[in-house]
Amino acid sequence: MCAARKQDEDGLFALTGEGRAVALFRLVLAFMLVVMLAFVVVEGWRIWRDYRHAFTNAENMVTNLARATAQHAEDAIRQVDAITAALAERLEGDGFEHIDRPRLHTLLVQQKSIMPQLHGLFVYGPDGSWIVTDQEVVPPNANNADRDYFIYHRDHPDRGIHIGSVVRSRSTGDLIIPISRRLQYADGSFAGVLLGTIKVEWFVRYYGDFKIDERGALVLAKRDGTILVRRPFVEQVVGRSLSSSEIFRIHLPHASEGVAEAVAVVDGTPRLYGYRALASYPLVVEAGLSRESIVAPWRHDAIKSVAVLLLLLVGLAAFGGVVLRQLRERIVIERALHQAHQTLKALALTDSLTGLGNRRRLDAVFEPELRRARRKGYPLALVMLDLDYFKAYNDRYGHPAGDQCLRRFAEVLQQALKRPADLAVRYGGEEFTLLLPDTDARGAELLVQEVQQLLRRQLLEHVGSPLGRVSFSAGIAVGDLAREGVTAERLMAAADAALYQAKRQGRDGYCVAESSVVGVEE
Ligand code: GH3
Ligand code: MG
Ligand code: MG
Repeated sequence: MCAARKQDEDGLFALTGEGRAVALFRLVLAFMLVVMLAFVVVEGWRIWRDYRHAFTNAENMVTNLARATAQHAEDAIRQVDAITAALAERLEGDGFEHIDRPRLHTLLVQQKSIMPQLHGLFVYGPDGSWIVTDQEVVPPNANNADRDYFIYHRDHPDRGIHIGSVVRSRSTGDLIIPISRRLQYADGSFAGVLLGTIKVEWFVRYYGDFKIDERGALVLAKRDGTILVRRPFVEQVVGRSLSSSEIFRIHLPHASEGVAEAVAVVDGTPRLYGYRALASYPLVVEAGLSRESIVAPWRHDAIKSVAVLLLLLVGLAAFGGVVLRQLRERIVIERALHQAHQTLKALALTDSLTGLGNRRRLDAVFEPELRRARRKGYPLALVMLDLDYFKAYNDRYGHPAGDQCLRRFAEVLQQALKRPADLAVRYGGEEFTLLLPDTDARGAELLVQEVQQLLRRQLLEHVGSPLGRVSFSAGIAVGDLAREGVTAERLMAAADAALYQAKRQGRDGYCVAESSVVGVEE
């Protein structure tokens, strides 16, 4: 119990000095770590959110671009579709033998002038010969029977328009997209081909007007993947197939429009693509922004943020480091102070001759022990012991021998005390005191008898004593804390009186104080 209390005392002491410094050190360290972590988390979250934003914006942009280019292509082709349908109806209705070439030529010239995308309008006979065009001069012996679209219509009876791959015009040398339609006689047999050609240049110019980054791409391709137009425009790319590209292979079969990240087949650039298949014609448009153009502004921003964050963290760590170092120094000092204080305290409470506690020790412990006894409801015994004829011992054997005798007696006391809570102190001179918590008169008597026996076994000669050996007298007082008025002073006075009585009764014995002497009952 006493040992436990000592620990409490130490703990309390530690908390007021070193302990507080350690707690502060931990608090500062934890605070710094939390602040730094918070900075990292918040900044990390912001950077991630900006990254997502960049892509969401880019997705919207490529979707819009794909819509605009798809609409543009659809409009351009629908006009050619409409005029060729009207012309076919007229030619077939009037009969091919009645064609008024000058009148038809004028009509074609007129139609072409109102459709800026149009490169030319042509009517070919069943053998591929030029019947009439919008051009002023028809090259002699011109024949288009070898063109893909001509062969297609000759062999296929369907009446819809046919969109061919890009070819170079025989009349002007321009790159053109042929939009053609089959002509047939009343019996359904092949009567020739109607052809409207759209300038690739028309698309190139339109695509060039969009404000997208240098590595962005706009593509118009046939549904089979054959490229018709592309921005950036490189002639060699026209006619190449995109059928192996991710969008044509994986995405288009499932969805006619959407957004996908892919590496371009043509130039190997990773892009975010918006793609869209035209509703009315077997064409596909793709609008792509390079991944780099999407990520670069974000990256620029993120690098700046991270740099600022790092600076902040380094600053915080440096500042925290200084604070923590000072705290650590304080802890070292506090620890040294604490140890010095502990040593001094121990010295101040120890009797230098015997190593037992001294009177100060007893004073310090007495009141708390009384309170404890009162709280727990157990008796507290106080024993005062005084060596007999000790003046004579000194006179006979000398003072140093007297000191030695006192040390031996202290050892005997220590030996007799069994409980950790029991306390033996040298009260002064050759007087000693035992404070015995949770001990009644009977227990105290047994302990005193034990001390007597142990001392006798020491065989300490004392010729100045009638007994011939060193002996002691003792007074026992037991405080019954259930009663009012039990104080340290009363216990001491009662034990002292009992000791005086034992001396009077001839020494080498002990007396127990009347319990009434201890309390208020009188
Ligand atoms: P009694 O108690 O039996 O009545 O006789 P006494 O001789 O012991 O009585 P008293 O209290 O008068 O004498 C105490 C003596 O103890 C006085 C002193 O010589 C001796 N003494 C006190 N302190 C010390 C000490 O520190 N060392 C030594 N060697 N002797 C001490
Ligand atoms: Mg004395
Ligand atoms: Mg004495």
